[in-house]
Amino acid sequence: MPKNSYVLVINCGSSSLKFSLIAPLTGESLLDGIAERLLTKNACITINFPTKTNISTEKCTTLLTLKSPCDHKIAIEKLVETLTQHQLIKNISAIGHRVVHGGEQYSQPTLITNKVKKTIIELSRLAPLHNPANLIGIEATQLAFKNLPQVAIFDTAFHQTMPEKAFMYALPYELYQQHDIRKYGFHGTSHFFVSRMAAKTINKPIEQCNFISAHLGNGCSITAINNGQSVDSSMGFTPLEGVMMGTRSGSIDPGIIFYLIEQLNYTLDEVNQLLNKESGLLGLSQISNDCRALEQAALATNNVHTSRLAKLALTVFSYQIAKSIASFSASLTSLDALVFTGGIGENSSFIREQIITHLALLNFHLDHSLNQSTCLGKSGKISSKNSRLCLVIPTNEEWVIAEHTYLQLQQLKQG
Ligand code: ADP
Repeated sequence: MPKNSYVLVINCGSSSLKFSLIAPLTGESLLDGIAERLLTKNACITINFPTKTNISTEKCTTLLTLKSPCDHKIAIEKLVETLTQHQLIKNISAIGHRVVHGGEQYSQPTLITNKVKKTIIELSRLAPLHNPANLIGIEATQLAFKNLPQVAIFDTAFHQTMPEKAFMYALPYELYQQHDIRKYGFHGTSHFFVSRMAAKTINKPIEQCNFISAHLGNGCSITAINNGQSVDSSMGFTPLEGVMMGTRSGSIDPGIIFYLIEQLNYTLDEVNQLLNKESGLLGLSQISNDCRALEQAALATNNVHTSRLAKLALTVFSYQIAKSIASFSASLTSLDALVFTGGIGENSSFIREQIITHLALLNFHLDHSLNQSTCLGKSGKISSKNSRLCLVIPTNEEWVIAEHTYLQLQQLKQG
């Protein structure tokens, strides 16, 4: 792969397709964007070109509406057209795909072959919303870039180092043996990235680093990292387990599900919708799944009821995250740093403060002024002098996908 080449990173959902063109060794982005509302009348594609000024990098955005019916294949064709217009197409030497579930089969970046595609389909039983959509992205891209190698980077891969004691559920053993029911963990590329950046920050080889990383976005997961490897994570068999999230309930008493069905006449689909889409910050607050909106609502003095529910949602959220972080002290023998990332972890000084307040027993204390200034997506330390180290590190999953795609292809070439 030539030195000045770029990897096109694709993250495909059922109705959206995110893309970015990244230099694998530096993380420089030439272009990024999203095709949204695919398969509807309102399909559109937004393409951002970073433009460098003397003081900062700004984004120049092009919004194109797409002729209906626009599917993933047409969105990719539009992207190819734009890349060709801007003479970027020749710079692309590989495609890296985010694939959500790699099961126990994949713990490494993997060159996509027909056999790998078959396995991704087979693993759809574990991730019915995600893997089929990821495959649509792979096939659409394969059609458009016939001669380029394509690599799958699995969200679950980083967690494949979890020991049995962490990934087993206390269910009959045959459910694991015959049906693969176990904890897998998700957000692997993000936990991988921030742990590597944290190791650089403290100037220690990653193989000797122990961290707890908290990825707090619309989805939230906490991971314990021992000697650079994931040893436990809060998400489980599905991304529904663990702490409450934007619209997901996180862990609840499974007995509630029986109660909903038997006493309140919920159907299975309704329970699924309730726990995945109507719970979490949105469900508790009755206002929004958006942390920013809730922080504003909590402060509003004109509606006591709304303000109370917004505060309640944020308080339960922070408390659950603090408890999850504290629980991972059982997984580690020492701790170099706690790392916050994701939209909320990177930007919300309020939520970080709420979480750290619960962790005094673990000797975490905040430097309030650092916490306030380390927002708006900047990296930095937010703990006080006598505290254990607490860092904020903006995640960059696209860069990991580009880099791993590149390294995997280099390895195949050499080996
Ligand atoms: P996703 O998991 O979809 O990638 P993000 O990582 O972008 O999501 O995180 C989205 C969350 O980050 C939303 O709840 C949003 O409100 C929150 N967020 C973004 N900026 C801020 C901010 N300045 N203050 C508080 N929350 C923020």
